[in-house]
Amino acid sequence: ERVYGVQRWGAGYFEIGANGNLKITPDLSNKNMRIDFQSVIDEIKQEGIQFPVVVRFHDILRSQVAALNKTFINTIEEAQYQGKYMGVYPVKVNQMREVVEEIVDAGAPFNYGLEAGSKAELITVMAYNTNIDSLTILNGYKDAEFMRLALLGRKLGRKMIVVIEKYSELSLLINAAKQLDVMPIIGLRSKMTVKGRGKWESSGGDRAKFGLTTSEMICAARYLESEGMGECLKLLHFHIGSQLTDIRAVKEAISEGGRIYAEMHRMGFKLEYVDVGGGLGIDYDGSKSTNDSSRNYTMEEYVADVVYGMREVCDLENVPHPTLVSESGRAITAHHSCVVAQVVGEIRANSAELPTDKLPTDHILLNNIRELAESVDSQNNLQEIFNDASQWKEQAIGAFKLRVISLEELGKIETLYWQIMVKLQHRLKDAEFVPEELQELDYNLSSQYLCNFSVFQSAADTWAIDQVLPVVPISRMNEKPTVNCSLVDITCDSDGKLDQFVVDHGISDVLPMPPLKKGEDYYLGLFLTGAYQDVMGDMHNLFGRLNEVHIFGDDDDPEDFYIEEVVKGSSVQDVLSIMQYNPDAMAQSMKRMIDQHISSGAMKPREAVKWTDFYEDCLKGYTYLKTS
Ligand code: PLP
Repeated sequence: ERVYGVQRWGAGYFEIGANGNLKITPDLSNKNMRIDFQSVIDEIKQEGIQFPVVVRFHDILRSQVAALNKTFINTIEEAQYQGKYMGVYPVKVNQMREVVEEIVDAGAPFNYGLEAGSKAELITVMAYNTNIDSLTILNGYKDAEFMRLALLGRKLGRKMIVVIEKYSELSLLINAAKQLDVMPIIGLRSKMTVKGRGKWESSGGDRAKFGLTTSEMICAARYLESEGMGECLKLLHFHIGSQLTDIRAVKEAISEGGRIYAEMHRMGFKLEYVDVGGGLGIDYDGSKSTNDSSRNYTMEEYVADVVYGMREVCDLENVPHPTLVSESGRAITAHHSCVVAQVVGEIRANSAELPTDKLPTDHILLNNIRELAESVDSQNNLQEIFNDASQWKEQAIGAFKLRVISLEELGKIETLYWQIMVKLQHRLKDAEFVPEELQELDYNLSSQYLCNFSVFQSAADTWAIDQVLPVVPISRMNEKPTVNCSLVDITCDSDGKLDQFVVDHGISDVLPMPPLKKGEDYYLGLFLTGAYQDVMGDMHNLFGRLNEVHIFGDDDDPEDFYIEEVVKGSSVQDVLSIMQYNPDAMAQSMKRMIDQHISSGAMKPREAVKWTDFYEDCLKGYTYLKTS
């Protein structure tokens, strides 16, 4: 349990069972439910679904929607706050239809709404947020068409709130509203002076990309008033960044936002809603700290700071408590999905050894390093051994380039060098002090486990912004992890790797793993990928979207589950079509080339048909490695 810190980042959803397998409790309100992840994998295999797969636990989504809403409802009651909570889910965090449908369904009892940040997202939320009582918040940059769509929603009696991100959007909205004779509901986004802390801290402050300055806010409100639309101004919006690591930023934002709301009220603009945006973080590394991949607060503390903070400002300023809106996406979706990939090989610097027995013709460099290898255990100055071995290896490379030693001799020197490093590593295990250069031995000798997935498709943020995502094996976690490894993907890109892992003592550049067993299918899970990773992946090397499996727990049997839906990932022809190829034409072209070999007599018709079918099958097949 401790090696992978599962309990620290698992948020109650993940733990390691006594059998060493990962267990899932997908619904926090039903702690009896415990699904063995290895059984899920076995069933996926039985169904003939190829790995890698995205596994979605829809109960986790529902559980998070309920947790956020209930926390707000309970805190509001406890604080005797006069306003309500009306949250929205920002679809950009995971726009998958099944995810949005599940969230809308789970949110229905709470009138939980949706948020859109682009025209395509607006078109989506118009069709999917069918609950007339919930809010639809419209952020992002807008054009006249966007405004007309929003006003169509108003015509249909929906609570569509257009949030003005930049001053010039206001005239677009006013003109469209006048033309269509519909009263919009309008929000203004403030460019807050308080900045969040963490990777997204540039979302606030003077150089923030979105929002209005104080003077623009006042001018916007007065402009609306002069156009007879002052009444339409209902919402104050702010968002100081995603994944806020420090709760102090939330407190500061609420007091600044609260003051703006109160002053606007006093100026005669009777706003009804304050939208605090997103920012509720996830403890990806389980450190409960202000690390970029963590947060120093819980959901309960966050909600309490929003509710009590707003109450305090409003009471002080003698203005009504507004309805609170929040746009948490990461906190809703991160836990519900993970990527499961098979380990398909191991890469080690010393994986193949040449015989190094002494020959009379051996070059002096080879003799020297052999003698050193034989004497490692009897010498005490480990740094000196390291220096000598490294120097002779370097000299050997020079000698090879100058045609002084042969390729075979260079290979033997390499074999002996790695043997020395392994011996040094063993000796260092008991050392009280490890010199700086030797500290890298563990990493240099660590294996690289080759996993059948693409970092660029499935964990884009680990590559783009050094996001830490927890990785754990699905089974055998009750064994001593004797292999330290990093993980590499199957793209032809050296950046396609994971080398930051959550372990018991924090973040490590190697992941402790049980050794691979011959003939065993061994799987790793990359967790907390439900927010952003699912939708930001790209098709580097033409690896496409993953097969998806949607899992539900069985209410009648706490250990049982069922696969509710399988969504097929991209086939080769799918990704080729996106890149403007014509797979049919490609198949015909291959067939023509193969047929020419029949005409020339180089291939029998029977063999030619087989090759043609094989090419076509591969076109229709999955883009990842076929492992069985
Ligand atoms: N609302 C807005 C305006 C955003 O820009 C974002 C993301 O950055 C969100 C909501 C979602 O925030 P989070 O993922 O932190 O919940």
